[in-house]
Amino acid sequence: MAYDNDNIFAKILRGEIPSEKLYEDADTFVFMDIMPRADGHCLVIPKTPCRNMLDASPEQLLACMKTVQKVSHACLEAFGAEGITLQQFNEPAGGQEVYHLHFHILPRHEGVKLRP
Ligand code: ADP
Repeated sequence: MAYDNDNIFAKILRGEIPSEKLYEDADTFVFMDIMPRADGHCLVIPKTPCRNMLDASPEQLLACMKTVQKVSHACLEAFGAEGITLQQFNEPAGGQEVYHLHFHILPRHEGVKLRP
């Protein structure tokens, strides 16, 4: 599937629309989800173009997962979370709405449901 340079996360990476940045390194960028389903809900994305997990390179996946782990630990600390739910959607049938690879980090507390 083709990569659309005008998707919203590509615009965030280019600084064309604002985001609430949490973390950044050479390969990845992390920012708060605009419609959080849990306190601290954030998104990890690669800086290079990639539609979703299905067409990601091993390097993109490794860089994202390293950042997911790092930021998850920070979320446990910062939000006093007791667990982390990691979500990732691919293609419309898989629930994807923004076509730049992203991983949802959702800090969780015992007995607290995700907001819709
Ligand atoms: P879904 O919308 O079903 O979760 P995706 O996995 O494609 O599908 O998620 C896109 C996510 O991007 C949503 O959680 C949405 O709230 C978030 N989002 C959309 N626009 C922005 C934005 N400008 N800044 C931060 N997050 C955004």
